[in-house]
Amino acid sequence: MSARILVVDDVPINVRLLQAKLTAEYFDVVTASDGPSALEVMATEPPDIVLLDVMMPGMTGFEVCRRIKANPRWTHIPVVMVTALDLPEDRVEGLEAGADEFLTKPVDDLALLARVRSLVRLKMLMDEWRMRQETGQRLGMRDDGPTLSAESGEGAEILLVADDDRQLLRYQTTLDRDGHTIGVVAPGADAIDRIQKASASLLIVDLNVQSVDPLRLCSQLRSHEATRHLPILIVGSEADTPKLIKGLELGVNDYLKKPLEPNELRARVRTQIKRKRFQQRIIAMHEASLAMALTDGLTGLYNRNYFAAHVEALLRNAREQGRPLSLMMVDVDHFKAVNDTYGHAAGDEVLQELARRISNGVRGFDLVARLGGEEFVIVMPECRAQEARLVGERLRGLVCGSRFEVPAIGRQLEVTASFGLAQYGGFADSADDLMARADQALYEAKRTGRNRVVACMGIEKRECQVASA
Ligand code: GH3
Ligand code: MG
Ligand code: MG
Repeated sequence: MSARILVVDDVPINVRLLQAKLTAEYFDVVTASDGPSALEVMATEPPDIVLLDVMMPGMTGFEVCRRIKANPRWTHIPVVMVTALDLPEDRVEGLEAGADEFLTKPVDDLALLARVRSLVRLKMLMDEWRMRQETGQRLGMRDDGPTLSAESGEGAEILLVADDDRQLLRYQTTLDRDGHTIGVVAPGADAIDRIQKASASLLIVDLNVQSVDPLRLCSQLRSHEATRHLPILIVGSEADTPKLIKGLELGVNDYLKKPLEPNELRARVRTQIKRKRFQQRIIAMHEASLAMALTDGLTGLYNRNYFAAHVEALLRNAREQGRPLSLMMVDVDHFKAVNDTYGHAAGDEVLQELARRISNGVRGFDLVARLGGEEFVIVMPECRAQEARLVGERLRGLVCGSRFEVPAIGRQLEVTASFGLAQYGGFADSADDLMARADQALYEAKRTGRNRVVACMGIEKRECQVASA
C-alpha cells in the first residue's frame, strides 16, 4: 500500500525524522517547510496524506488545514496535525479546522504508521467514491454532486457499546448537544445481531466493556457484509494505546483517549458522520446514474445497452442448461401517423402506454426493453416458439383490445402493433442471429397486413409463419 505523503514542518530535523520513518515503510515522501510552500505542493502534486506541524511562523498548521479543507479539490485528502502540545483545546481547534487526526511529538512510530495506513485506506475509499461521482457526472447526472464539507455531522443515530451507566450518561449528554440519538447495545453474544439490525450511522465501542472482547467485536463487524462500512470509533485509556492502535489496523475508523473531552468527542463524531453521509450520498447517486444509463427515460423499460448486455447472459444460460428461449420484436403499426396527426407528445404517451401493457402481459423474469423509436423487444427464457406465440397473441390483444388513453390530446386512440418472434436454435445460435430472424418475422407481419404475430421457424431456412391475423 504505497502512498504519497506530504510532511510539513518548519524544523528541518523534524522533517527528516518523519521522512526517514515513512520512507523506510516505502511511502513516497514530499516535504515543505512552511504553510505557503505546502499549499504550492498541494497545487502541483497533491499528496494522499498531509502531516502538518501546528506551530509554524507565518501561517499556522491550523490555517493551512483550513485552506486545504476549504478547497473542493483537496477536501478529501486526510490531514494529520503533528503537535508538540497535546491539549484538548488544540485538538478541538484542529478538528474544527477539518483535521482528520493528531499525533503528538515525539511521534510514536507504531501510532504514526497505524494512523497513516488507516488514513491511506480512507483516502483510497474516498478516491473510489469520487471516481463514481465523476462517472455519474459523465453519464449526465447533475454536476453539483455532493461534497464532504457540505454534509452535516449532526442529528445522527449512534449506537454505543458500553456497560458502565455513568459512562453512558456522559456520552449521552455530550452527543445530545449535536442532536444525535443514542442507542445502547449491551455487550453480549447477540451484540453483532443487534448492531446489524439497527440503522446507525456510527458505532462507539468503549474498550472498557467487560462481557465481550471489544476488538474482536470490531473485527467481526468488519467481516459482516451489513456492517462492513459502519464507521466505528473506539474509546480507551492511555494504557489501552496498543489496543487502540490495533483497532486501527483492524479497520476501526478512529479512536479517542480518556478522559473523555466532550468537545473532542463531538468533533470526532461529527467527522465520522459527515464521511458516512457523503459516502451514502455518492452511492445513491451512483445507483441513480446506473439506473439512468440502463433504462429508457420515456418508458422506464431497459434500454438497448442493457438489452445487448443482458441478452448475452440469458443466451449463455439457455446454452449451458440446454433450455429453450424465445425472442420477440414488437413494432407499433403506422406510428408515424400518430405523430403526424396528433403531435410528438401524443406519440410519446402512446409509447408509454404500450410499454405498460407489454410489461403487464409478460412474466416477471421476461426481459422487456425499448430498442429505440417505437420498437421493443422481449426475451422469454424457458419459452418455446409455441408458447411464445401464445404470449404474442395475448400481447397483441392487450394492445388492440382497448383504446389508448392519450391525455396530451384528451382523447382515445386505436393502436395496433406487429410481433415477430424467433426461438433460440441451439449451440451455434447467436443473439444477432436470433434478432435477425425475429426482425425478419416482424417484417413479414408488416408485409402481410400488420396487427399480427409471425414466427420465424427453423434457423437455416428462415421460413416465417403467420400465427394470427
Ligand atoms: P410501420 O407500421 O411500418 O411500423 O410504420 P411506422 O409509421 O410505425 O414506422 P416508421 O418507422 O415509418 O416511423 C416510426 C416513427 O416513430 C418515426 C419517428 O418520428 C417516430 N418516433 C421515433 N421515436 C419516437 C419517440 O421517442 N417519440 C415519438 N413520439 N415518436 C417517435
Ligand atoms: Mg412502426
Ligand atoms: Mg419502425
